[in-house]
Amino acid sequence: MSAAKATSGNLFADDPAFQITAQTISVLPPLPLAGPYDYMVPEGLSVQPGDFVEIPLGRQTQRGVVWGDAKGDVESSKLREIYGVLPAEPMPDVTRKFIDWVSAYTMAPQGAVLRMAMSVPDALEPPKPIFRFTLSTDFDPSSLRMTPPRKRVMAFLGENPAMEQGDILRETGAGVSVVKGLVEAGAVRRLMVKPPSPFDLPDLSIGRPNLSDEQTIAADALCDRVEAGGVSCTLLDGITGSGKTEVYFEPIRAALAEGKQVVVLLPEIALSAQWLQRFRDRFGVVPALWHSEVGQARRRDTWRSVADGSVKLVVGARSALFLPYKDLGLIVVDEEHEHAFKQEDGVIYHARDMAVARAHLGGIPIVLASATPSLETLANVEAGRYYRVELGNRHGAAVLPSVEVIDIRQDKPERLRWITPTLKKRLVETFANGEQAMLFLNRRGYAPLTLCRACGHRFQCPNCTAWLVEHRAWGKLQCHHCGYQAKAPDVCPACGAEGKLAPCGPGVERLYEEALETFPNIRIEVATSDNIMGPKAAAELVQRVHNHEVDLLIGTQILAKGYHFPLLTLVGVVDADLGLAGGDLRAAERSYQLLTQVAGRAGRGDRPGTVMLQTADPANRVIKAIAAGDRNAFNEVELSQRMTHGMPPHGRLAALIISGKKENEVDEAAWRIGRVAPRGDGLMVLGPAPAPLSLLRGRYRRRFLIRADKGVKMQALIHDWLSQVKTPGSVRVQVDIDPYSFM
Ligand code: ADP
Ligand code: ZN
Repeated sequence: MSAAKATSGNLFADDPAFQITAQTISVLPPLPLAGPYDYMVPEGLSVQPGDFVEIPLGRQTQRGVVWGDAKGDVESSKLREIYGVLPAEPMPDVTRKFIDWVSAYTMAPQGAVLRMAMSVPDALEPPKPIFRFTLSTDFDPSSLRMTPPRKRVMAFLGENPAMEQGDILRETGAGVSVVKGLVEAGAVRRLMVKPPSPFDLPDLSIGRPNLSDEQTIAADALCDRVEAGGVSCTLLDGITGSGKTEVYFEPIRAALAEGKQVVVLLPEIALSAQWLQRFRDRFGVVPALWHSEVGQARRRDTWRSVADGSVKLVVGARSALFLPYKDLGLIVVDEEHEHAFKQEDGVIYHARDMAVARAHLGGIPIVLASATPSLETLANVEAGRYYRVELGNRHGAAVLPSVEVIDIRQDKPERLRWITPTLKKRLVETFANGEQAMLFLNRRGYAPLTLCRACGHRFQCPNCTAWLVEHRAWGKLQCHHCGYQAKAPDVCPACGAEGKLAPCGPGVERLYEEALETFPNIRIEVATSDNIMGPKAAAELVQRVHNHEVDLLIGTQILAKGYHFPLLTLVGVVDADLGLAGGDLRAAERSYQLLTQVAGRAGRGDRPGTVMLQTADPANRVIKAIAAGDRNAFNEVELSQRMTHGMPPHGRLAALIISGKKENEVDEAAWRIGRVAPRGDGLMVLGPAPAPLSLLRGRYRRRFLIRADKGVKMQALIHDWLSQVKTPGSVRVQVDIDPYSFM
C-alpha cells in the first residue's frame, strides 16, 4: 500500500472522505498573527477541509483547522506532519469562508479571526461519557450472593429504566462498591450513553400572539422571506414600543419550523432579562446564550451543540456570529444602529455588517431591527439592496411620548444643582400620580473632573489623555479608559492646598445626591454599569421597577435600551447636549439615536408619557428633530451634509492607529508611513495626527484617516501602502475599516 501510495499519490482519490489526502494540506492555527501553514498528512490518516487537527508549531503543539490544499510555498520535504484529527464536527464550509471574508475585509490575519471562532478550547475535547446501569437480562439471580443493599439495587433497577449511578445510590442508600460488585458478578450491566443535549427544543405549538394589522403585515413579509429561502436583508423599521420583537419572533418561528438554526444578536445581552422572558413566553425555552459572562462549561456545551445542530436558537453578543452553525437559517440583529456592535480591539469589526456578509455567504435571510436605523442601513434601503417593513404605531393604547425642551439658560437650576425648576415640578406631579420617572445622564461616577481651586490643578490619568472621574461611593478617582484608580485626596498634590479640591460637573452619583435631597420621600435607584453588573443584577432591577418598588430611576445609557416599564411616564434628560460635544462624524446621529431610545422608555403602557430635554442649545437640529418627532427631516439634513463631504454612507472611511510605548518611535513610524501615503482621485489621507486619546493605557497613539469614494478598493490600497513601510516590532499599526470611534 505504501508503495502504491508513493506512486499514485492518493489511493482513495475517488472517496469523498479523502478529498484532500494528497499528502499535503494547509492548516490555520487560531493565532493572532497567522495565516495557514502547510503540513503533511501521515499515511493512514484521512482529513477533510474543516477538520480540527493537532499540529506541531515551533516547539509547541497547536490546534488548528484544515483550511484546504497546501499553498505550496514550502518544499514538501521540509513539511512537518500533523499529529492527528480531533473528535469534533468539522468546521462548516460557510464558517471558513466567513472567516476568510472577515479577514479580508477587516485586514486582520485569518488566524486572529479564527481565534474568535475557536474561543472555547475545551469544546474540542470529547464530552465526558455518561454511564447508566440496568439489569442484565440473561442473568440468573439465584447464583448471586444477596445482601440487603444488593437487593435494594436490583429491585430499584427492576422497576426503572437504565439509571445513572448517582440516582441509584441516592434512591437505595447503597454504596459505590455495591453497584460495582453487581456489575462484576454480571447481574448489572454498565451502558455508555450519549450525553443528552443540554438544550431544550423550542416549542413551536405555542400560538402566534394577537398581532395588530400593521404587525401582521410586517410579520408575514418577514416570514415570506424565510420561506422563499435565499439571501435577503430586511430592515424592520418601527418606532419604540411598536412591537418589533413580537414581529421578528414570527420569522424566527418560521425558520425553526424548517428545522433551521437562528441567531439573534443583541447589543447588551447581559441586560436583556425582559427580552429573554418574552422569548420564553413565545418559544417555551430559554435560548442558548452567548456572551462574555457565560461560564466555560456552558460555553463548551453551546459550542458543541451549535456545531452538531442540536441547539436551534442562539442569542448573543457580536461574537455569536462566529459560532460553527451546522445549519443556520436566519440572522436577526436587534438595535442594528448600536455602536456596541463595533468591536474596537483585536479584530476590529462591526457585527451588523459582518452579519450581513454571513447571510450572503450562507444564502439566508437577515433582519435588522431598529427605531432609529443607521444612515448606512437607510442608504442600503434607498439603493434597493435592503427591503424595509415598517411599524408606525405603538402597541395597544400606547402613543409616543410628547417631548418638551427646557432651555437651562432661562430655566436655571440652583447653583451646583442640575434639575431645572420645570423638570422638578413635573417629577413631583409624576410621583403624586403614583407613576415612575427616569432621569438620564450618560455619565458614570460623581463628577467627571476634579479641580484644585487654589492652583487650577486637574487630576489626570497617568496612562491616558483623560481626566480622572470621581467615584464618591468608593472614595476613588478612576480613569474610564484604562481603569486606573487613585484614592480621592484631601490635599492638592500640586500646590499642597487643603480643602480646595472641587468636583466639576455632574455624574449620576451626584445627581442621585441632589434627587435624595429634593425628594426625600421617594424611592430612588441608580443604574450604571458600576452597579448593574451582569444579567442577575439587571433582572433584579427590572423586577423592582416592575413591582413599583422604585419611583425614580437614575441612570446612564444602560437604561436606554429595550426596557418596558408600563408605569414609567416621565423621562428627564438632564444634559441633552452631552452627546453632541466631541463632534465626530456620527455625533449628531448617535445623539439622535440615543435620545430617541431614552425617550422611547416613556409612556409605553396605558398612560401617556412625557420627555423633557434640558439643553443649553435648543436650536440644535438634533434637539429640534427629537422635539418635532421628525426622523426623516433629521436624516435628510444629516445625509446631505455627509454627501457634501463624501462621508459614509456616501464615501468610505478607514483609519490607521499607530501606537507604542515610546513616543519617539511612534512618531517616527507614523512619519514614515505618512511619507508614502497614497494619493489619487477620490482619495484623501489626513494625518499623521495625535489621536484625541494620544495616550491610552500607556501607549502613545497617532492616527491617519483615509476617505475614499465608494468605488475605491480601500483594503487593497491600504495593503499596498503599508507593505512599503517597515515598522519596528514595538510599534503596532492597526487598521480600522469603517471606523466608528475617532478617539
Ligand atoms: P419595540 O422593540 O418595538 O420597542 P417591543 O417589541 O418591546 O417594542 O413591544 C413593546 C411592548 O408591547 C412589549 O411589552 C410587548 O410585549 C408588547 N406588545 C407588542 N406587540 C404586542 C402584541 N401583538 N400583543 C401583545 N403585546 C404586544
Ligand atoms: Zn487611564
